[in-house]
Amino acid sequence: MLGEIQLSVSHANFTTWFKPTELIEQSDEQITIAVPNTFYKRQFEVKFDDLVRSVLEKNGATPKRVIYTVRSSSTPKRAGVSREILPEDILPTTSSHPTSTSVISSTSGYVGNSLNPRYTFDSFIVGSSNDLAYTACQAVSENPGTKYNPLFLYGGVGLGKTHLIQAVGNKIQATNPKARVLYVSIETFVKEYLEHVRFKKGDFSGKYRNVDVLIIDDIQFIANKEKTQEEFFHTFNALHQANKQIIISSDKPPRNIPTLTERLKSRLEWGMSIDIQMPDFETRCAILEIKASASGVTLDSETIEFLATHIKSNIRELEGALNQLLAYAEMRGITPDISTAEGLLGDVRKSRPRHLTPKQIIDKTAKQFQIEVNEMCSAKRDKHIVTPRQVAMYLLRSELHMSFPQIARELGRKDHTTAIHSIEKIDKAIKLDYMIREQVAEIREKLYV
Ligand code: ADP
Ligand code: MG
Repeated sequence: MLGEIQLSVSHANFTTWFKPTELIEQSDEQITIAVPNTFYKRQFEVKFDDLVRSVLEKNGATPKRVIYTVRSSSTPKRAGVSREILPEDILPTTSSHPTSTSVISSTSGYVGNSLNPRYTFDSFIVGSSNDLAYTACQAVSENPGTKYNPLFLYGGVGLGKTHLIQAVGNKIQATNPKARVLYVSIETFVKEYLEHVRFKKGDFSGKYRNVDVLIIDDIQFIANKEKTQEEFFHTFNALHQANKQIIISSDKPPRNIPTLTERLKSRLEWGMSIDIQMPDFETRCAILEIKASASGVTLDSETIEFLATHIKSNIRELEGALNQLLAYAEMRGITPDISTAEGLLGDVRKSRPRHLTPKQIIDKTAKQFQIEVNEMCSAKRDKHIVTPRQVAMYLLRSELHMSFPQIARELGRKDHTTAIHSIEKIDKAIKLDYMIREQVAEIREKLYV
């Protein structure tokens, strides 16, 4: 049945939600399926129940009840039940694939992969903000050097870029221990290149060109470094021509990295570029729940939702707040709950200036888009005015939680449905359009300096 489900949901959904499930009990009356935690339980009850029932029915099982239960430590995962029937277990592994990473016979220059074993696909939680990136990374890890080359991941800090690109490396390394995988931040690349030029130190090109998979983190820091860009360009070409996989992360897409030479920009755009976005509320809850239970703690949903509501910026901060909460509770020997979380997070919220006013939001937004405030609040409907106006509405809502009629009034609109539509529109645009997302992020930053 898992095999059947795998064909009908996205790969990311399958891996996150269905793979960790297990059949516990089966009778005419009842089927019990164990899931890792209460968040999964809720998701199954609300979201996947119909799918599960229809697959059961197709396979001749029509129990009166389907129960999802949280797997407790006393009911250990029964080895085999869920694993044996996964199609991917039957498919040949990458190492027996003719197109898989071929290993260069000479080992000159290869110094080990510098990967952090903690960053794996299994420990990565998939939601709508990162499922594309996750899927592309998995595809690359299954057939390196063939499909998306280079694979270029971009997005803001703390959203999981380093985690994902290292997961690719770890997976390739696990499937093919002989593959030469090399992970470095671009800063290391720059530093070693300079040392090589100045002191003729180390076998620089040997190290970077004799690999099967090159993973470069935070390439945006190559801006303004002309010589290094040139060296990287040649490294890129050498590897690409030899069908070696190149994986790159950045905080922005290639075309937005300043001072990047045209030829390097175009190389970086050759393969697949995907952005990772801010995790949505659902994903933030899942991350908190799964990370807490990995530390052996079960948080109630009220506390989880509280944290997920107040920390929206990125996953690193979400993890930080969770760790702080768990450490605090452990030190005092108490069970972490919403009031503990409130006590700790209080500081975070207080640090936001209380004096933020609607006027400041409107002024800063107008300034960001280089238009006049009175134009923004006028009846004009030109596109270069409408978008800033919608962004201002969006920020009034997200930062000050103003009501729709209030927001409409601030921007000189009579009808509050305009505010509703505008906010919805920007909400969507932020997910789809990198430029809007950057603009909104920049205004936000300026509001809180
Ligand atoms: P970036 O490189 O984009 O700045 P990182 O990859 O360093 O972000 O992620 C920051 C932290 O958040 C890491 O500890 C990482 O493991 C964790 N993290 C990010 N995204 C996820 C995710 N989807 N699931 C689980 N952990 C995540
Ligand atoms: Mg990073």
